[in-house]
Amino acid sequence: MKYCPQCASQLAEILVEGEIRNGCPDNQCGFVFWNNPTPVVAMIVEVDGGVVMAHNVAWPKTFYSIITGFLESGEDPLKCAERETLEELNLHALETTLVGVYPFDRQNQVIVAYHVRAAGQIKLNHELDDHKIVPVSELRGWNMGTGLAINDWLAQQRVTA
Ligand SMILES: [Zn+2]
Repeated sequence: MKYCPQCASQLAEILVEGEIRNGCPDNQCGFVFWNNPTPVVAMIVEVDGGVVMAHNVAWPKTFYSIITGFLESGEDPLKCAERETLEELNLHALETTLVGVYPFDRQNQVIVAYHVRAAGQIKLNHELDDHKIVPVSELRGWNMGTGLAINDWLAQQRVTA
């Protein structure tokens, strides 16, 4: 953000309660650009045979992950998880359970992850160009972002199994 959304002044570094922030110079209108992280909902979508790992058109060829989506204004994150599962994969949620909440500093996001047991015929939307169903026994997370949610969910499975 370069210009103040309230008074259109060019933003500058200002001191706010001892921290350097971007904001309106000399506090003209009091605007501070806090740059708070954006919440993102991630879905570990499980169907018969395993978890849906999808490939986004913008990603490196070999990288597959669980699907994610942005909350709409006023939307319950759980409803968002079910809506995105339908929009991105054409699958209907049968049961949706919170897995956890994870930082994703690199994208300035906070990930709210759900496990979605789902059914239907997979049809990818335009954001995705491939998918695979990974058996739970072969599923592995990684140490960042949505990978942390996968690791936690796998650990939860082992505890309850
Ligand atoms: Zn301003």
